[in-house]
Amino acid sequence: MATTKVVVVGAGVVGLTTALTLSKHKHLQITIVGKHMPGDYDIEYASPWAGANVLPVGKPGSNLQKFEEATWPELDRICRDIPEAGIHYQETIILGRTKDAGSAVGEWFSELVKEDAWFKNVIPNFRVLPKSSLPSDCDTGTSFTSVCINTAIYLPYLLGQCVKSGMTIERAILSHISEATLLHASGEPADIIINCTGLGALKLGGVLDTNLFPGRGQTVLVRNDPGVMLTISGTDDGDEEATYIMQRAFGGGTILGGCMQHHNWDSQPDPNLAQRIMQRSIDLCPTLVPKTGKVTELSIIGHGVGLRPMRNGGIRVEKEKIDETWVVHNYGHAGYGYQAGYGSACEAERLVNDILEEKAKL
Ligand code: FAD
Repeated sequence: MATTKVVVVGAGVVGLTTALTLSKHKHLQITIVGKHMPGDYDIEYASPWAGANVLPVGKPGSNLQKFEEATWPELDRICRDIPEAGIHYQETIILGRTKDAGSAVGEWFSELVKEDAWFKNVIPNFRVLPKSSLPSDCDTGTSFTSVCINTAIYLPYLLGQCVKSGMTIERAILSHISEATLLHASGEPADIIINCTGLGALKLGGVLDTNLFPGRGQTVLVRNDPGVMLTISGTDDGDEEATYIMQRAFGGGTILGGCMQHHNWDSQPDPNLAQRIMQRSIDLCPTLVPKTGKVTELSIIGHGVGLRPMRNGGIRVEKEKIDETWVVHNYGHAGYGYQAGYGSACEAERLVNDILEEKAKL
């Protein structure tokens, strides 16, 4: 079979996962280009800032739910078989308060907090917690065994796998998606472009997707050990504030979050919000500070701010011909690029196969 030249634009978790998924087709010659690469920490690059864990939130029957369901077995496999990828299992507790229904965070977590959640037979060890064991202001509680991904290890791992499979990786800043046609490592025009530019697709010429907007997330990374991964459906500090705690694998520290601030582009940590995040975290998980029970016992590694690529209409996985070249879009993963990334990469792969079949008929 003749080789097909593919340029993947974007080296976040979605671009790297998509490139790796395509790499099993040996006739595809893949070049990845991006403004940011694993190792960078920048407000325009969401992936390193993620917790990251798997807490399914897709509505039953939605694309997101299908992508999440398809992604779990792959993350489970990597966690089990490839320790150097930086993923470990975490016992997880999800708490729900009826009063959070309808708030920004309550909506985001509405499927997650269900005691009859669709993923109860997908994610292992799902069980409903007895009411007597819940904090007094909580109405529901479940636990299961999820994973936490150390993004500082996992993103370089994905990049390394791409290099190992023969791809070329280059830095490039595109002002129009069609510029990717001229960026294939062979020097010849690309046959297919894969657009994995996340929030960047809002301003990228040829795409300019105004359905995209930022969902700002702020975190505090600490050395303290929570012993368990915990999330609750809301807070009493405002509609857009959240509390979640997860320990990253292999000395990655514990992420305390957070918030979901729509349309907020601020790249700097808000110190007052950081204080609220830490106080809520120790209230929810006193084992973080066993000696004093106070915020001052938290040993801070750093503060983080990332912009989730939110999209009205959900994740966009579509094919489109732009300036005579086929483009497969795969962006808009909001707060679920890790937990849905493999599923959406498989959908992008299906679209690439469609394009190749159409080309073969010509
Ligand atoms: P990005 O990581 O932003 O990558 C985009 C890529 O495109 C970059 O390489 C960039 O340089 C490139 N690019 C963009 N525009 C251009 C251009 N014009 N020219 C060249 N290159 C360009 N998800 C989970 O699944 N679980 C979690 O627990 C989780 N927690 C999160 C916590 C926080 C605080 C945040 C902020 C996010 C969290 N997420 C989580 C969401 C997850 O991080 C995102 O969904 C994911 O990182 C999106 O990946 P991406 O590859 O689409 O985008």
